Amino acid sequence: MQKILNQINNQFKAPATNKYLPVFDPSKGVPYAEVPDSNEKDLNAAVAAARAAFPAWSETTPRHRHDLLVKLADLIDREHEALAKMESVDNGKPLSLAKVVDIPRAASNFRFFANAITQFSGDAHSMNQPDAINYTLRQPLGVVACIAPWNLPLYLFTWKIAPALAAGNTVIAKPSEVTPMTAFRLAELSVEAGFPPGVLNIIHGTGAGIGNAISTHPQIKAISFTGSTVVGGKIASLAAPLFKKLSLEMGGKNPNIIFADCDYDQMLDTTLRSSFANQGQICLCGSRIMVERPIYERFKKDFVEKTKQLKVGPPLEKETTTGAVVSKQHLNKILSYLEIAISEGGQFLCGGQRIILPPPFEKGYYVAPTIIEGLPADCRTNQEEIFGPVVTIMPFDTEAEVLGYANDIPYGLSTTIWTQDISRAHRMAKKVEAGIVWINTWMMRDLRTPFGGVKSSGVGREGGWEALRFFTEMKNVCIKY
Ligand code: NAD
Repeated sequence: MQKILNQINNQFKAPATNKYLPVFDPSKGVPYAEVPDSNEKDLNAAVAAARAAFPAWSETTPRHRHDLLVKLADLIDREHEALAKMESVDNGKPLSLAKVVDIPRAASNFRFFANAITQFSGDAHSMNQPDAINYTLRQPLGVVACIAPWNLPLYLFTWKIAPALAAGNTVIAKPSEVTPMTAFRLAELSVEAGFPPGVLNIIHGTGAGIGNAISTHPQIKAISFTGSTVVGGKIASLAAPLFKKLSLEMGGKNPNIIFADCDYDQMLDTTLRSSFANQGQICLCGSRIMVERPIYERFKKDFVEKTKQLKVGPPLEKETTTGAVVSKQHLNKILSYLEIAISEGGQFLCGGQRIILPPPFEKGYYVAPTIIEGLPADCRTNQEEIFGPVVTIMPFDTEAEVLGYANDIPYGLSTTIWTQDISRAHRMAKKVEAGIVWINTWMMRDLRTPFGGVKSSGVGREGGWEALRFFTEMKNVCIKY
């Protein structure tokens, strides 16, 4: 069984405890690798290496860091096939998805921030009487931490590491213990790319173990976290008294609002993706679908028909559109929400159960794409994040009514609105409580735009200048002349 190792100071090391945790192949429900169960000893070694590397790394030119980040992106491209397969086996997602989304996006994260840092600059404010000029430096913070979830493992891991390194910080990065494999390969590729020892350190382990140690480590200046709202709250409570900078990207329960005047075919195709892509395990998935009454019955019939055509199967098979969910624990969570939905009076229009595939996949974690009807907006099924291939549909009559459904929830990550009425589109975009609004599209991403949520979905923004601002500290210098 493959043993994953920590990368500390460009060396590959067993954890101090020599303890490992099993890593499961969700398609078969069996362990296939082992990941270090690291503790604060490993963290201290990584932080010492990162601190030692910081002075020289932070003094390198943006062009030098650009070149190293681009080299790493090139190596990810070189390993595209292997990394996509690794991600698919580790996470359960269809190989086809890992090939076109996860791995290309990981490479483009490095290329994007490689270029961005060569364009990043501080501000200047001139004064008259007395004559003076202020200029604002943007300096790297020091040692920073990046903590990532399991749903888009390499994609979201690199989304944090790339701006942190580009801005001149040295990094302690922790992938999810559930999906550590591509992070391990990234560690090897970063050494091959020529990053100096200590600049990027990738350590593995649980949230309760190494994750807590990161949140409380006095030498770590900032934490960029993506994951659940509960864990984000925990990190905030531990890190705030130490005055760490925090960026928290957390859970969502996003509305998909469909007006009767929409481009119907485009809406239907996109809604299928925004409901079930990656088995519904994307924080941006639209899991609450609200449909204007005149097209409700038509939509219901067509959407159910299309959903039934999705092919649930082993992630590596070509025809598979819906793979396995990530873990047994997560499978059980999703199944428990299906029971809750029934107890709340919901009806399954399709799906509603686990799928058992023939051997060798009979222990795999497969859930039939599920559409639920007949639930009020304020029930648990519609208020809590399920994060699986499960959506609810409900009709509405007025803009005011649907805005109430959309906003009356603790989350506020993204919203999708389907309408051809331009005034309504702007009106709704302004009033929905979300950090990201898509009109007549979904998950269309420009890496320059601010990415993040409001309310319990997030604090701070990633992407573009926002990420580089997060990973730098401002210093104002005032000169009188
Ligand atoms: P999670 O919160 O359980 O874990 C995320 C990461 O935090 C993992 O690396 C985990 O080991 C670590 N962690 C856990 N406890 C910790 C602790 N006490 N201290 C420090 N680190 C700790 O989330 P998950 O189950 O891996 O991912 C699914 C969640 O992520 C969903 O809620 C989803 O909405 C959210 N998510 C949000 C976004 C976004 O951009 N807003 C993107 C993807 C996923």
